Amino acid sequence: MQHNIYLFGAPGAGKGTQAQLLSEKLGIPQLSTGDMLRAARKEGSELGNRVAALMDAGQLVPDEVVIELVKQRLARPDHQAGVILDGFPRTIKQAEALDTMFASTGRAPLQVISVEVPFDEIRRRLAGRRWCSRCNGTFHVTDNPPRPGHVPGCDVSSCPLEVRTDDRPEAIEKRLQAYSQQTAPLMDYYRQRGVLRAVQGTGPIQEIFAALQACLSA
Ligand code: AMP
Repeated sequence: MQHNIYLFGAPGAGKGTQAQLLSEKLGIPQLSTGDMLRAARKEGSELGNRVAALMDAGQLVPDEVVIELVKQRLARPDHQAGVILDGFPRTIKQAEALDTMFASTGRAPLQVISVEVPFDEIRRRLAGRRWCSRCNGTFHVTDNPPRPGHVPGCDVSSCPLEVRTDDRPEAIEKRLQAYSQQTAPLMDYYRQRGVLRAVQGTGPIQEIFAALQACLSA
């Protein structure tokens, strides 16, 4: 069966980690709008420059920008067998645009899984998150340290780890605000459509992964 899965949740809920595991397990790509935007910034493209300030401030970039990115990515041949959406949609307008894309291409219905983590835990996770801009690896100072006992550095490329600009305390609060005001209303949007499931996003990564898989339609 074609799986089109949307992992819903606050920033730092672990959607990226779980999306990567699901992607490997199901053999379908992970589509992360955050990763795509960070890649555009790294390339120094016009789009990257346009969204940089908004991202650093912890605000959402305009709907039109991400909708266009997703539309182009979903049209790729390697995205035809299914996809795991991570970080998109984040507004009702994006969700409606996604519905239109799905309807016009005859995709299997979206399965939405909410990864639920209390805000205090989210703050702790984001404040301790470290990132390798070269290979996109994500670590945490205590929960997932790079090469324990060694000088901090990415396990893959050995480069120094960074704090993402949007993981600084002022940006974290802005992102949580954006989530509460613009993204959380999607819960009702998908609940009303009968496609919303939920898992607890705290505890060991493999246990969360098992719970996620149990939510998927056979
Ligand atoms: P993420 O890595 O998913 O937390 O995304 C990092 C940042 O990219 C967000 O704080 C937003 O500025 C931007 N972004 C990513 N996805 C979206 C989206 N679907 N809509 C608007 N902005 C987004």
